[in-house]
Amino acid sequence: MPVTDFAALALAPALLSTLQELNYQQMTPIQQQSLPAILAGKDVIAQAQTGSGKTAAFALGMLSALQVKRFRIQGLVLCPTRELAEQVAKELRTLGRSIHNIKVLTLCGGVPSKHQILSLEHGAHFIVGTPGRVLDHLQQQRLDLSELRMLVLDEADRMLDMGFQDEVASIAAAMPAKRQTLLFSATYPDKIEQLAASLMQQPVRVSVSSSQAESSIEQQFYTLASSSREQAVMLLLQQVQPASCVVFCNTKRVTQQLADALQQHGFSAKALHGDLEQKDRDQTLLQFANKSARILVATDVAARGLDISELDLVINAELAHDTDTHTHRIGRTGRAGAKGLAITLADSKDEYKLSLLQDTLSEPIRLQPLPALSLLQQAPAQAEMVTIQIQGGKKQKLRPADIVGALTRDQQIAFEDVGKIQLHDLWAYVAVKRSAAKKALQILNHDKMKGRNFRAWQL
Ligand code: AMP
Repeated sequence: MPVTDFAALALAPALLSTLQELNYQQMTPIQQQSLPAILAGKDVIAQAQTGSGKTAAFALGMLSALQVKRFRIQGLVLCPTRELAEQVAKELRTLGRSIHNIKVLTLCGGVPSKHQILSLEHGAHFIVGTPGRVLDHLQQQRLDLSELRMLVLDEADRMLDMGFQDEVASIAAAMPAKRQTLLFSATYPDKIEQLAASLMQQPVRVSVSSSQAESSIEQQFYTLASSSREQAVMLLLQQVQPASCVVFCNTKRVTQQLADALQQHGFSAKALHGDLEQKDRDQTLLQFANKSARILVATDVAARGLDISELDLVINAELAHDTDTHTHRIGRTGRAGAKGLAITLADSKDEYKLSLLQDTLSEPIRLQPLPALSLLQQAPAQAEMVTIQIQGGKKQKLRPADIVGALTRDQQIAFEDVGKIQLHDLWAYVAVKRSAAKKALQILNHDKMKGRNFRAWQL
């Protein structure tokens, strides 16, 4: 039987009573798996999402290791966004409320540095912040991490998506090598492995079991009957209204045709297949990942490069040629405990393939009729974000923080309206909310960054 009671851990009695007061009765699965290793001082890589109780897992580790009388920065949590950093700081303060004189400071971009500088002069035990601003304070020698003992990377995959790897590396270089490092991430792309290899020592890995993820995929089957494949896909998209969806086809030709048809009908769709130039494929993947495109129509081969954690729908516009391919396609939704839906279209020619597929499923396949045509009368939903390309990148010494800084200066654009940033050598991409696009283009084309003007345009 797994140990689920906090009292089984080597936690200080005061922390245990706070947990009781907060009505944290039992450990969540991620806490059960990670806390023993965290409290033993090990480096830990944990696959965990918001809502899993991950914050309390690392916060309890930080609070247990704290020597409150040593008024030095002992722990740093890096987060991708200000909102997350603020939530983390709040949880640290709540869980640490039994510890007298504990000081937790947030250092985030998008707000003036003035108060942060003052607070830093007064000192703190724990810092929670976003990489750009933390690095800024470090470089201005306002922040001393020489006595740090614990580094936490929260939502590490999102930090990498936002292009913060260089900042994270520079920050880590300013702290003792002998420290404990904890990494929390909802997904495990290769770049997380690389990051972990550069920052961690013999990390313990914990994650939710894959059977939990598999069972969270719901499969539905629809019969094409007299509808065209294109129309069927549009009906299903209108019915489900996914925020992000991949539509699989078996050939490059069908992929391109379907993407064209969806675009003509106003859907936020892009094609991805091997006949496209590499640059177009990269831009398509980028726009899909940063939420500037809702629908990706792809071949199996092209979709291998896809590294997206939050697909809420997979549509098989054509049934895959074999069962493994089908399983692989639908496994792209419902990852890491998130609920996913996989819809498969089939016609009379697919009977044999369906019978093979049936052998792998516990539930009988039931072919449903397509939704009513009237759904096509509504306009399809637009993408939430747009992508802006900037003619400047690493060679011009641009950093994500410069771009976020320019956009959010004087609150011209809200910090929350700025999405993923990707920096290349000679150019950069930034996603902004659709409603802020015009303003963002105006700022990026007219205001200076790093003392000079850049050109920017919408993709
Ligand atoms: P998180 O995944 O860190 O965003 O946490 C999700 C929510 O669960 C937060 O509101 C926590 O306060 C709460 N929480 C964390 N651990 C526990 C626990 N063991 N029992 C009850 N609630 C918890």
